[in-house]
Amino acid sequence: MSESKDNHSNGFVGDVPVVAKSDVVVVGGGAAGVTAAVSAARNGCSVTILERYHHLGGMASGGMVLVLDDMVNGKEIVVSGIVDEFVHRMEKEGMAVMPPLEDRYASEEMWQKWSRWGVHDFHQAKKPQPIVYAVAFDPDAWKRTSLDLVRENNINLRLHSLFADAIVEDGVIKGVICQTKSGRQAIMGDVVIDTTGDLDVACSAGADFSQGQYIVTTVFRLANVDTDEAQRFEYEEPEAFAKVNRQARRIIGGAWEMWWLKTPIPGVVWCNCPHMPGYDGISVEDLTRAEYEGRDRMMKLFHYVRENMPGFEKADMLGAAEQVGVRTTRMLRGEYVVTVDDVVNRRYFTDTVCRGRDYYTPYRALLPTKVEQLIVAGRHYSAEPDAQKRSREIPPCMAQGEAAGIAASLALQENILLRDVDAIKIQKVMRAQGADPGDIPSANATGIEELAASA
Ligand SMILES: Cc1cc2nc3c(=O)[nH]c(=O)nc-3n(C[C@H](O)[C@H](O)[C@H](O)COP(=O)(O)OP(=O)(O)OC[C@H]3O[C@@H](n4cnc5c(N)ncnc54)[C@H](O)[C@@H]3O)c2cc1C
Repeated sequence: MSESKDNHSNGFVGDVPVVAKSDVVVVGGGAAGVTAAVSAARNGCSVTILERYHHLGGMASGGMVLVLDDMVNGKEIVVSGIVDEFVHRMEKEGMAVMPPLEDRYASEEMWQKWSRWGVHDFHQAKKPQPIVYAVAFDPDAWKRTSLDLVRENNINLRLHSLFADAIVEDGVIKGVICQTKSGRQAIMGDVVIDTTGDLDVACSAGADFSQGQYIVTTVFRLANVDTDEAQRFEYEEPEAFAKVNRQARRIIGGAWEMWWLKTPIPGVVWCNCPHMPGYDGISVEDLTRAEYEGRDRMMKLFHYVRENMPGFEKADMLGAAEQVGVRTTRMLRGEYVVTVDDVVNRRYFTDTVCRGRDYYTPYRALLPTKVEQLIVAGRHYSAEPDAQKRSREIPPCMAQGEAAGIAASLALQENILLRDVDAIKIQKVMRAQGADPGDIPSANATGIEELAASA
């Protein structure tokens, strides 16, 4: 953290030049960050977004995580708003695929038609799992859509800017310092939104956090796969398929049963594997080792399926994702820490500002306890590790971003602290933007009687 009493109006923080100032600074251009930036800009704020890489999207593009899920509670679509704009824009390009309404149910026929798109409800134990509203998309289309939305909303985009330090004065965040090729640069803002996924800003600013860890995955794609033949083999020769598939999973050493999924580009499949335990997603040494191990393992699988799995005979290796797939590292310990019981039991909160699937996220889970004018959104939000594991999909991270952007604008409009923003007002703006803030609990929500009793 940089504790600075400098007068920033002289254009420096210490000896670091101030290169940008805006109402809101968003650090991290992943799914949550871009959504937060767009949401804040649409609500009247000037916004700067900082990203360490050359692209926007984070896990959803560079990490090649290519299905939007956790958007439904049964038949009810519960994550909407800016995520819909991503879907519609990519769909227009033919780069997003989703099952039509009439196909969204459980049957063997629908399973065979849709499961290789990854659009089934994987939380249901009973097979065949129901086909639900979920979206398979292309990573470059995600990057283009992110850039388009940033440009259209007049957001100041600064790529190749690695966050290095939070600028904090008397417990209030005033901006951030980035390391760039041109040296260190300061970016000042009245509100900072941390969407780095690893809590880099909040941690540097002195917020409380916990350390999480889970498997990391070097996602990769194969081209020239005859997916019709691969599926014919799967369904017409189930025993032979099970044997080859078991061996494939053994060879890669860590993969879900559905380790390959279709993408909008015919013949190109994404492989959500190998899963590798024991790596710390913020350790340079571990992330470097993961690149070696991930590639070694993916090549073994590649050679095996070319030789043994019908449909993969002519497959080509398109390559690994630009970013290793990190699911969990540091997580905020905020005003409220969402528990696994809250998620599993679908607990409703009066200050719910967004939701995913059947769970609700209170505004307090986006706010650090100590630092003022800082808010977080995305996979590092304030939750127990087991709660985060069940609630970190791309759409709910975006819903958090949309709510955080609104909260920032309300704090600035009303000239109040972020923690004093009325969650009911955030809910109203979320609704007006077409998003579901979770203010109207679904029939399967719990905790409502407790709230009524304590009222
Ligand atoms: C292998 C894998 C499979 C998954 N499968 C699915 C799935 O099928 N469906 C689904 O919906 N979700 C899935 N998830 C979860 C989901 O992808 C993530 O939880 C979600 O994308 C997180 O979004 P985010 O914006 O919070 O963080 P991220 O996507 O991690 O974005 C963080 C952004 O901040 C940037 N950044 C980080 N540090 C700095 C810094 N110091 N300075 C500047 N910029 C910085 C990063 O480059 C990145 O752009 C999966 C995750 C993984 C890893």
